[in-house]
Amino acid sequence: MTAVAEDLDMASIGRLLRRRHDEAAEQVSRLQAQTASMLGSHDAGSGDAADVGTVALETAEQAMVTMALQEQLVRLQAALGRLEAGTLGVCERCCEQVPLTRLQVMPWATHCVPCQSVVDRYR
Ligand SMILES: [Zn+2]
Repeated sequence: MTAVAEDLDMASIGRLLRRRHDEAAEQVSRLQAQTASMLGSHDAGSGDAADVGTVALETAEQAMVTMALQEQLVRLQAALGRLEAGTLGVCERCCEQVPLTRLQVMPWATHCVPCQSVVDRYR
């Protein structure tokens, strides 16, 4: 699966990005609905303490997963904005084209590999 598709271009990166975005958006709304129903079903206070504790733990874990997904979604949304503006895949630091093979893995990447390591170091 490491082989680069022959037709790898900005159009296919754009399609990939939209797909990733839609998947992430769907996952976030599904998790939010799940968390809401978990909280809702134990609202009445009828369950025993251990039960409520387990649910609280599960809810907290789910909230963390949801938060990570939401962050990802924000990155994907920003990348979609750059796609529309025509600046997707342009490194924000050196203004060079980010390799398509990198965008294929991380369509939301805002820096090329050398600049990313610099940005990470000085963050
Ligand atoms: Zn760069």
